[in-house]
Amino acid sequence: MVRGAFAFVVLALAALCAAMVPARAGDDPAAADRAGVRELLAQADALRSADRVRFEQALEQLYARRDSLDLAELQQLQYLRAYWLIVFGNDVTAGIARAQSLFHEAADPDLRFRAGSLVANSFAINRDFAEGLRFLEKTLPKRHEVDDRDIRHDGTNVAAALYNQLGQYTLAKTYAAETLADAPAPRAACFAGHFSLEARLRLGQLGEDDASAREMLAKCEAIGEGVVAGIIRTNLARHLAATGRPSEAITLLQQTVDKVTAIGYPWLVAEYRSLLSVLLEESGDIQGATRNAEAAVAQAAGIDGARAIADAYRVLYVIAERAGRPQEALEYFRKYAEADKAWLNEVKTRELAYQIVRQETSQKNQQIELLNQQNELLRLQQRVQEQEATNSRLLVLLLLVALATICYWAYKTKRMQRSLRHLAENDPLTGARNRHFFTQRAKQLFTAPGDEPVSLVMFDLDGFKLINDGFGHATGDWALVRVVEVCRALCTPRDCFARIGGEEFAILIPGADIARARHVAEECRARLAAIDSAESGHVFTVTASFGVTCSELAGRDLTSMMSQADRMLYRAKREGRNRVCVHELPRAVVEDLPERLSSSGADSDARSRVAAV
Ligand code: GH3
Ligand code: MG
Ligand code: MG
Repeated sequence: MVRGAFAFVVLALAALCAAMVPARAGDDPAAADRAGVRELLAQADALRSADRVRFEQALEQLYARRDSLDLAELQQLQYLRAYWLIVFGNDVTAGIARAQSLFHEAADPDLRFRAGSLVANSFAINRDFAEGLRFLEKTLPKRHEVDDRDIRHDGTNVAAALYNQLGQYTLAKTYAAETLADAPAPRAACFAGHFSLEARLRLGQLGEDDASAREMLAKCEAIGEGVVAGIIRTNLARHLAATGRPSEAITLLQQTVDKVTAIGYPWLVAEYRSLLSVLLEESGDIQGATRNAEAAVAQAAGIDGARAIADAYRVLYVIAERAGRPQEALEYFRKYAEADKAWLNEVKTRELAYQIVRQETSQKNQQIELLNQQNELLRLQQRVQEQEATNSRLLVLLLLVALATICYWAYKTKRMQRSLRHLAENDPLTGARNRHFFTQRAKQLFTAPGDEPVSLVMFDLDGFKLINDGFGHATGDWALVRVVEVCRALCTPRDCFARIGGEEFAILIPGADIARARHVAEECRARLAAIDSAESGHVFTVTASFGVTCSELAGRDLTSMMSQADRMLYRAKREGRNRVCVHELPRAVVEDLPERLSSSGADSDARSRVAAV
């Protein structure tokens, strides 16, 4: 059942949006056909609320030609069909289903929005306020995609109407204000003005001002919106009565009651008559009050849950009771109670619908918020993991760099140490061991356990100054290098051959007795003498004088060994150079020579030479 001011508003609003498609037929028959289809669609749209018969004729013609309609035209036709099912076809459910699928599928954003508005309206007409509100709140955000201002205003006016019905006057006022601020067409302005007025009245914001109400009333009357004008008048009358001007209210209603009755809209007639009966009863016009109350309740059949019916029965009950007709008063009271209950139920239903949807919305928002927070958490966790991965990579890189640096420095230090050690232990010119190394090695040998013999061969190049002076210092250097090469070739790895002075050299021979040492010295002397100086570019001979001693003769002490060897060396010099002088024991000692020396492989010649000292 279609009821109340809201139902009227819904139907009227749906008529606001006539999609006027310009129809231009050319010479081309196909083009003319297309233009004809578009013209028919536009006509049907314009006629749907104004002239049911012609609307249905246009629909029939469109259905007959539906094979030639393109998708957009078919969707427009589907919208008109949905409208027809809801408004005339008495099949709101089927109409809603079609409009709903259009809301989801229509390519044109304007048509999608119209379909959404129609669905929201239709649920509300069907008294499914919650579903209507849900759909409205799905549709409203899409209004910003809508190009056609009239279609947009249709949606915001539906919102204002529905929110007023649900008692959400602030929201209703906001949407009405949005329409009014957007240069609406006169009909949209009339409706929006009415919704705004009603919302302000219910919010108690009208105060003493009724000029805006009268102005809106005049605008709606000027465009022939009789029903809206009628509703505005009832609201204005309530406002006048509430602000202490009941007679003005009565006059306003009485002057227009016939005009409103002629429209034939039961809900509005009941509103008018009921309000008049209340005001007249309060002013003492019992007859007038009774007549109007009876006229109001006469409309009750078509408008369940209207406040007007409850008010009218209350007036009749009060009048009957005062007039002392208890039977009649009881009957009216019973009807008043029923109507009042129906009205309160209606109000509760609407409030509940609003609260349910609000609750759902807030739950949905909370879920969205929760999901957002979870997403944010996941994003943060991901970022932390990425950061950790980056940090680990950086750490590994850092460790590698540190390790490489440490290795590099360790290598450099080692090299430096080796190089310093090399410098400390070797003679830079010849590469032979230096005196320092030689001394250390001797100490090692002499402090080692056991009494293994150690021999020492020392030699000094003969007349070396002459080479320097005669062929230059570089030639002298060359000779020194060659001397080292030659002597080194004679030594075993255990021997220690060193340059202990400018052109003085020494060989420590572990495990060698004096004979072996002499042999080494002789071999060395011979090889030095055999050096071919041609490579230096000069001709000269290299000879040296050798002094040889052994730990068994000089004792296991480097100083004494060196001094003995030096003595022998100088003896060799004195005796004519290029020779070997071996340390020998004095005769007295030789006679007492231990078996060890004689049996150690020392040559018998040594014995005889020792004896000769
Ligand atoms: P003697 O047979 O008496 O040993 O005669 P000598 O000329 O070898 O005399 P002495 O041992 O006193 O001289 C050694 C010379 O060796 C003096 C010095 O100029 C030279 N000399 C020392 N070290 C080097 C060096 O590294 N290179 C060169 N070219 N000459 C050096
Ligand atoms: Mg010398
Ligand atoms: Mg010399």
